[in-house]
Amino acid sequence: MNAPFPPTAPLIDPFARPITYLRVSVTDRCDFRCTYCMAEHMQFLPKVELLTLEELERLCGAFIDLGVRKLRVTGGEPLVRRNIMSFFKVMSERLGSGLDELTLTTNGSQLARFADQLADCGVRRINVSLDTLDADKFAAITRWGRLPQVMDGIRAAKAAGIRVKINVVALKGFNEDELFPLLDWCAREGHDLTFIEVMPMGDLGGEDRLDQYWPLSDLRARLEGRFTLTDLPERTGGPARYVRIEETGQKIGFITPLTHNFCESCNRVRLTCTGELYMCLGQEDRADLRAPLRASADDGALRQTIRAAIARKPKGHDFDYSRGVSGQISRHMSHTGG
Ligand code: SAM
Ligand code: SF4
Repeated sequence: MNAPFPPTAPLIDPFARPITYLRVSVTDRCDFRCTYCMAEHMQFLPKVELLTLEELERLCGAFIDLGVRKLRVTGGEPLVRRNIMSFFKVMSERLGSGLDELTLTTNGSQLARFADQLADCGVRRINVSLDTLDADKFAAITRWGRLPQVMDGIRAAKAAGIRVKINVVALKGFNEDELFPLLDWCAREGHDLTFIEVMPMGDLGGEDRLDQYWPLSDLRARLEGRFTLTDLPERTGGPARYVRIEETGQKIGFITPLTHNFCESCNRVRLTCTGELYMCLGQEDRADLRAPLRASADDGALRQTIRAAIARKPKGHDFDYSRGVSGQISRHMSHTGG
């Protein structure tokens, strides 16, 4: 048998990729029901199955000890988890002591309440998901969301000194006509902007993901019809690619998770609110971290389980729209945290 790794050796997967980025879903619950993400009557996990915030803190701490430098808190909607600010506060203590960045992805509904506290916890940049600037369309796509509340939240974040990146899911027949208005609004407000290709996640009760699929290649071509785009060399280890719009100086991101062009530099893993570690967004393989976490107050077994999981991280993912089937990945984005 091989000697166990020393506890401080960084996490490197079999394809020599250092794992430095953890996305952690702190809840599967949400105050919205976006049509591409959740069914209207979602069956959420029984609360007893969720890790406590203390358990999540310990798990994230173990990853930071193993070389994770960036932590993104997501969900479900992370800001609806009760006492979530205590989690941010604990994690913020690792900033500058292992952790370089603490951030979150949010629907913005609770930001007006929490922006100042997030800033106090060292959060400098956040992603806010916003697919439309039209209040009626917003209510339709999120089912339960209200646009003015999110706009208030975005303003509060900006006022607190937090940089906002707007994430827009590109949806055929829904926000195609808002491409330029969204671009203008972000330019005026000083927000970065990223477009996401819709992914075939979860069984959403008969709604066909393919009907909503608007390829970013088409979106990009429309931008090129009006502006000069320059590809930027910037890489984040994920599926995002960036361009600069020469006429406005804006940086625009494109996230095309269905392509394979980013797997070779993948630096991330995802932790669910029940303590399952997914090594790849597009694969079902996962490792249970809850059992070793609860088995001992010492992190030794937990660390070994994390290392064994990273040793199974696959080379790439497995989405394929060409099969013409939606929902190949049966879990929801709200479970693995997008
Ligand atoms: N509730 C938070 C939010 O909406 O930002 C965080 C969790 S949400 C699951 C994370 C991201 O996943 C959001 O930007 C959302 O738009 C995106 N998302 C959800 N379902 C998706 C799908 N089927 N395809 C592409 N992106 C999706
Ligand atoms: Fe909630 Fe985010 Fe999913 Fe919308 S995308 S339902 S806000 S978790």
